[in-house]
Amino acid sequence: MENCLFCKIVNKQINSEIVYENDDVLVFKDLYPKAPVHLLVIPKKHISSIMEIEDLSDKQVNEMLKTIAKIAKEMGLDRDGFRVVTNTGASAGQSVDHLHFHILGKRSFNWPPG
Ligand code: 5GP
Ligand code: ZN
Repeated sequence: MENCLFCKIVNKQINSEIVYENDDVLVFKDLYPKAPVHLLVIPKKHISSIMEIEDLSDKQVNEMLKTIAKIAKEMGLDRDGFRVVTNTGASAGQSVDHLHFHILGKRSFNWPPG
C-alpha cells in the first residue's frame, strides 16, 4: 500500500534489519527497541490491524503465528519467557497502521501492562 511505512520495508524501499522472511511474512528489528530483543512480525500483505485478519488467507495467518514461535525459539526466548503484543487502535498506542506483532524478550515485563 502506498505511503505505508511497513509496506515500504516489505518492498525494501526503506532499510530494516531483517531477521527472517518467507513468501508471507517478514520479521525485522524494531528501530526503537523497548527490550533487548524487540522484533516486529508482519504479514507481507497490507492489512491495517488484527481487525482485518479475515483479509488474510489461512496460510498467511498460519505462517505469521508459526513464525512468531519459530523465531522466539531460535532466539532462546522461550526459556525465560517473552511477550507478544499487537497494539490495536489509538488508545492501545498503535502508531503504524499495518498489522504487526511485537516480540519482546530478554527482560522481565510487568502485568498488567501500562
Ligand atoms: P506500534 O506503536 O504501532 O505498536 O508499533 C510500531 C513500531 O514500529 C514501534 O515500536 C516503532 O518503534 C517501530 N518503528 C517505527 N518506525 C520504524 C522504522 O522506520 N523501522 C523500524 N524497523 N521500526 C520502526
Ligand atoms: Zn502496509
